[in-house]
Amino acid sequence: MTDQRGKLDETDLLVTRDYIGGEWIDGAAKPIEVDDPFTLEVFAEVVSVGETGAQRAVDAASNAFPAWAGKTPGERGAILRRWFELIEAHREDLARLITRENGKTFREARGEVDYANQFMEFYAAEATRVIGEIIPAPTPGRRLLAAPEPLGVAVAITPWNFPLAMLTRKVAPALAAGCTMVAKPAALTPLTALAFTRLGEEAGVPAGVFNMVTGDSGVIGKVLTASPVVRKFSFTGSTPVGIRLAELCSATMKRMSLELGGNAPLLIFDDADLDTAVETAMVAKFRNSGQSCIAANRIYVQNGIRDRFLSAFAEKVDAMSAGDGFDEGNDIGPLIDSRAVDKVDDHREDALSRGAHCLAGGASPGGRLALPTLLADVPANAKLAEEETFGPLAGVICFDTVEHGLELANDTPFGLAAYLCCSDPATIAHVSRHLQTGMVGINTGLISTAHAPFGGVKMSGMGKEGSHHGIEEYLDYKYICHAGL
Ligand code: NAP
Repeated sequence: MTDQRGKLDETDLLVTRDYIGGEWIDGAAKPIEVDDPFTLEVFAEVVSVGETGAQRAVDAASNAFPAWAGKTPGERGAILRRWFELIEAHREDLARLITRENGKTFREARGEVDYANQFMEFYAAEATRVIGEIIPAPTPGRRLLAAPEPLGVAVAITPWNFPLAMLTRKVAPALAAGCTMVAKPAALTPLTALAFTRLGEEAGVPAGVFNMVTGDSGVIGKVLTASPVVRKFSFTGSTPVGIRLAELCSATMKRMSLELGGNAPLLIFDDADLDTAVETAMVAKFRNSGQSCIAANRIYVQNGIRDRFLSAFAEKVDAMSAGDGFDEGNDIGPLIDSRAVDKVDDHREDALSRGAHCLAGGASPGGRLALPTLLADVPANAKLAEEETFGPLAGVICFDTVEHGLELANDTPFGLAAYLCCSDPATIAHVSRHLQTGMVGINTGLISTAHAPFGGVKMSGMGKEGSHHGIEEYLDYKYICHAGL
């Protein structure tokens, strides 16, 4: 780093080279420039590997696979556990890197490190809990087994909004299962991923078991999707890119996990506890400056609680401040790039032009900052209700009956998360049963944990991350029929 902002205690963690086959390598193509979303200054250059580098990484992972899969689950778990301990020991530095390259507040960056590390801890233990089955045979003299086996070489492609957590959700279960891996972070946030890789090396991950490549995503993606050696492809990012990668992977029939875009609804019913509803809206909307795939993008409020909710919510939104993520007084940091700010401005202007009213916040003040903003009386067909805003803009839409709210919530091609605030158990049961999403938060906006299965339905993707379901994504069950017994 070129200055004192986000200065690391351990300078070794600022890594700008890629890691392939246990070696740190230089790039072949034009380096990636990493900038600070608050100062807009380019503060690091990271190597960019081309096709040859990506292929070398696949070969390294393939060569390392038999020995890694052959280790006992306890041995693999012990290495993951050491990696977990190193992440914990370097929490502050990892958080500094996250704030520096992503822009989020330092408090949220620390929270991300803790959340990310839950996956390392969880799967270090889960490695030893993978078990097969002995199935009662329908024919005498036979034994039927379902034996778990790692899929082989796995690929992880991750986005910029949670540069550490999106990686550990894939790396930890993959390595615990016995797969080896090639990972590629987003070009906007490669430094956190490379620091994580350095800690993996220190933890004793054998050469080739985990490889990290950075560079042109089209070039690297082409190699990784086309390779017949890659048997598992796990992607987190936007729906259009996920669809394209799924098309490319289909030619070699890879198993896929796709964690894609969301457009989460939050339903606030008349009988909701007001404080809980406001707290849920604050967390579900403004966490990570609204740049979260499970951010409440559409806030539906039943007419009977509308006025009380809007006035309490507006007070909270008005009290928030946006600014430098390293300044502890700020609640939200800058957005990731200028396109993100433009999108928030566009969604706000669109809603205002359709009759919405601004109760807090307003136009972006410049740079990559967007003000926490609350709009009331947003029509149901406004852009902010149809596309992910991915910024700190909350739009409130009113509804009448429970069925009307449910209908509005499900009126989207996406199906990642949904939230509801309500007191009546029958309504809670009915609505959570009929929401077409992979996850539902009831009276809370904070649902993510390594202990539960995270994932979407419809255009939000397929597969689960976290919990025992997460490791299944990297396993196949071989059926063995033993006759003549
Ligand atoms: P993105 O543009 O789809 O990029 C995601 C990753 O894919 C990046 O590493 C990107 O690399 C890479 N990529 C892009 N084109 C590629 C290609 N042709 N081949 C291979 N890799 C390619 O998404 P984003 O803007 O970074 O992330 C925001 C989106 O992610 C939102 O829609 C959000 O909802 C979603 N998301 C979903 C979840 C979930 O769990 N469902 C979690 C977090 C985020 P480069 O950056 O180098 O181009």
